[in-house]
Amino acid sequence: MNAPATSITGIDAVRAEIARACRDAGRDPSGVTLIAVSKTFGAEAIEPLIAAGQRAFGENRVQEAKAKWPPLQARHPGLELHMIGPLQSNKAKEAVALFDAIHSVDRPSLCEALAKENARQGRKPLLFAEINTGGEAQKAGVLPQDADAFIVRCRDGYGLSIAGLMCIPPADEAPAPHFALTAKIAARNGLKLLSMGMSADFPVAIPFGATHVRVGSAIFGSRHT
Ligand SMILES: *Cc1c(COP(=O)(O)O)cnc(C)c1O
Repeated sequence: MNAPATSITGIDAVRAEIARACRDAGRDPSGVTLIAVSKTFGAEAIEPLIAAGQRAFGENRVQEAKAKWPPLQARHPGLELHMIGPLQSNKAKEAVALFDAIHSVDRPSLCEALAKENARQGRKPLLFAEINTGGEAQKAGVLPQDADAFIVRCRDGYGLSIAGLMCIPPADEAPAPHFALTAKIAARNGLKLLSMGMSADFPVAIPFGATHVRVGSAIFGSRHT
């Protein structure tokens, strides 16, 4: 993973940096949801953040989230859980049951599985289509040139409403052009939400319109697994 370009650490510092970036961009900070990415960290690390008022959390594995979150959710009503990692179609059932938002919708087979579970469970997590803005072969996501058709296919083929887009810029490139491209694709498709920006680059994503920033290590410290 990237080393943070800045020395922003701790949730208070991250919140302050979001507020500063919003002020610089002329945006209202209430338009940016901070998702605390808690993957690999246990309840003992998460509880103090909930006590500090944090409500939105992100995980990248269904199995890990399923083991960790139901007890926390039972103790703390009103939490918002975001799936930010790649999702296998055979995990759609568990994902729809557990998560309030899924940021990694990127192929028709997954859309089909999600649509089926939405209907069966009467639950509709907020959906983001993941865009592979760098066209990286090893990375998930829809290629930018296929994004418009994919969004239409989600809607017309599966009855799924895509609320926004998510991107993870290539680790070795400046993130700004990737945020700009993602914002442009969202705008021309009438999508309002943008999930972009991680520990190393969330202040850069805010002027491009990020509505959800996914911040892990700057809040929790570095991951050892
Ligand atoms: C782990 C992860 C993050 C958070 O990364 P940090 O660099 O620790 O902030 C954000 N988005 C996705 C998709 C991730 O997997």
